[in-house]
Amino acid sequence: MLTSYQLSPPDIRWGDDGAPHSSQFDDVYFDKESGLEETRHVFINNNHLSDRWSSMQNNTFVIAETGFGTGLNFLCAWQAFLNSATDDKQLHFISVEKFPMTKAMLADALKMWPSIAHFSQPLINAYPDVCHGFHRIELEQGRVQLTLWFGEAEDGFAALNADVDAWFLDGFAPSKNPEMWSDNLFKHIHRLSHQGTTFSTFTAAGIVRRGLKNVGFDVRKVKGFGQKREMSVGELNTATAPLSERMAQGKSWFNLRSDKRSEVTKVLVVGSGLAGANTAYALAKQGIKVEVWEQDNVIADGASGNPQGMLYPKLTTQDTYLNRFYLAAYLYATRLYNKLDTVGTFWNQCGLIQIPKNDKEAERFQKLLDQQLYPQSILHAATNRKDSLLLPLSGWVAPKKLCETLLSHPNIQLRLNTKLTQLQYLGEQQENGTATGWQAASTSHSDVFSHVVLCTANDSKAFSELSHLPIYAIRGQVSQMNVKDAVNACRQKGESAEKINIDKVLCEFGYVSPPLEGLIHFGSTYDLKDQDTAVREEGHNRNLTILENLLGLESDTFTSKDCEGRVSFRCAVPDYTPIVGPIQSAESYQQHYSRLSKNAKWKSNKVAEPNKQLYVNIGHGSRGLISTPLSACFIASLITNTPSPLEQNVSHKLHPSRFIIRDLKRSQNT
Ligand code: SAM
Repeated sequence: MLTSYQLSPPDIRWGDDGAPHSSQFDDVYFDKESGLEETRHVFINNNHLSDRWSSMQNNTFVIAETGFGTGLNFLCAWQAFLNSATDDKQLHFISVEKFPMTKAMLADALKMWPSIAHFSQPLINAYPDVCHGFHRIELEQGRVQLTLWFGEAEDGFAALNADVDAWFLDGFAPSKNPEMWSDNLFKHIHRLSHQGTTFSTFTAAGIVRRGLKNVGFDVRKVKGFGQKREMSVGELNTATAPLSERMAQGKSWFNLRSDKRSEVTKVLVVGSGLAGANTAYALAKQGIKVEVWEQDNVIADGASGNPQGMLYPKLTTQDTYLNRFYLAAYLYATRLYNKLDTVGTFWNQCGLIQIPKNDKEAERFQKLLDQQLYPQSILHAATNRKDSLLLPLSGWVAPKKLCETLLSHPNIQLRLNTKLTQLQYLGEQQENGTATGWQAASTSHSDVFSHVVLCTANDSKAFSELSHLPIYAIRGQVSQMNVKDAVNACRQKGESAEKINIDKVLCEFGYVSPPLEGLIHFGSTYDLKDQDTAVREEGHNRNLTILENLLGLESDTFTSKDCEGRVSFRCAVPDYTPIVGPIQSAESYQQHYSRLSKNAKWKSNKVAEPNKQLYVNIGHGSRGLISTPLSACFIASLITNTPSPLEQNVSHKLHPSRFIIRDLKRSQNT
């Protein structure tokens, strides 16, 4: 695992003409005279992309690249795609980069190409914070999707779950940059390719041609660009294993993919909280018709209905797959909120201060800072709070307003008072494309959907398909107080009312956010095995103690008489990890993978059963504001059979079948 998520910036020498040159690799990113033309010749024309795009049958075309650099190849591909493909088609571009440029470097490098400024500016605006891992960026209203892996190329491709149509092999020259042309990398290129996948590269070096031939590509030399004599192109002409097997990497029980390209006609999302609203939105923005069924007469009335919530990512001192999930999800959520809300309707990126609860936590915070696991842009010491951390990208969200915004997408039809009471699988989609899928019924309405996503939090146990999931409810009471009452109470106690005027979210045993619409929101209680739905005075008192501590006020400054509140129930999971992915039958798993109970290290690429197009997105606990947007993006990628935004090992952590597999492995010892 990693010792730091930070990455070194590239060591660049800028030429007099403004072109970047890598001092590290002693090579150029692009040719300063004719970079654009060379890219078009080597990568676009030699993969025959314009022809392929103008006649493409699938909805999405996937390009993967080795070496993102300045993004020039990506920008040229984006531009050419818009010129050739019809409006209903989507381009998915994946690239890897071990030495990512900063936003400022990228802007400097792309200044050289004013003719594509229309494309480079949105890329610069959307470019993610430099941090190890996958970053998903949506451009052109979602028609162009960019997945960037910041880190070692081989690790990125090993972690990737995607079916690539064309490869741009663009590392520095093989003699100077051998890691970009290694046998292991070629093996992954093959794993991620299907019959008909092409590649092109500027180099004709023997090591590259041999490497690609060895994994099965037909390789040819063709005329290089301009003065360059030769370059290489090729195609995979042999049949490959089904997608599910290629992606399995020995863990077929965590299969995510359908081998049949099933048509997505209409998707049913059940639940209108953060998970449901984000899932519906992630699908709708890809042009998919979605119905959202909500049993209540208002949206987001469960744990997502609190007036104000904060983003507190679970950042640990060690690199784990769960931590990678929360880190990626946090960065994705803050980018999404910034994009959706530029005027402060539901989101305020004011930053969050994490105050240690005790000496042990202070030590942990110090370790986090000393280790420099995270980039400064994500976490650093708070200047005016001793021993505390500042998370500058964080802030608060008004969750219900966020859900309203997400659900207002024109491709989403919301049905309130519509409780799913029956769900029946009608069988696999037929060869002739007849979409069977799922018959869903409420007391008043019934329809057929090609795919169903259950975002039903604590109500999930009611569905037989989900009854084995070990979720449980944790009661949480939040409190709110009028700012005026709070000011008066401070004055009466001889305290400075200024203490209420916080400009950042403060977290310790609980949290308090900067005032919203004249109210201070704070909380929350954490009540296990407590089903009481009533707001309790005792709960307010606990929350007031949290508040007084956070604001540095004397105890009993405030009184519960000034408080109002709300109770909801978080949907929690014993391993503190959301449950996101396809639902498969527990019985079939127990049969197919029974060998795991004899040998926990057993590996298999053979999947137990076809994907039934039933998904679940639940178990986000108190962290739904962080985890639901990326989880939704992941579910949408599974439904549309497009590249996953998550590392494979991360998606395995979230997989709904993990409990069955864990139990099988454990039964070895019993
Ligand atoms: N395609 C880029 C463009 O359009 O600007 C140019 C790519 S440049 C020729 C090669 C890139 O590969 C550099 O940005 C370099 O940092 C990156 N790179 C080199 N070794 C790498 C490795 N082992 N893993 C990931 N990226 C690497």
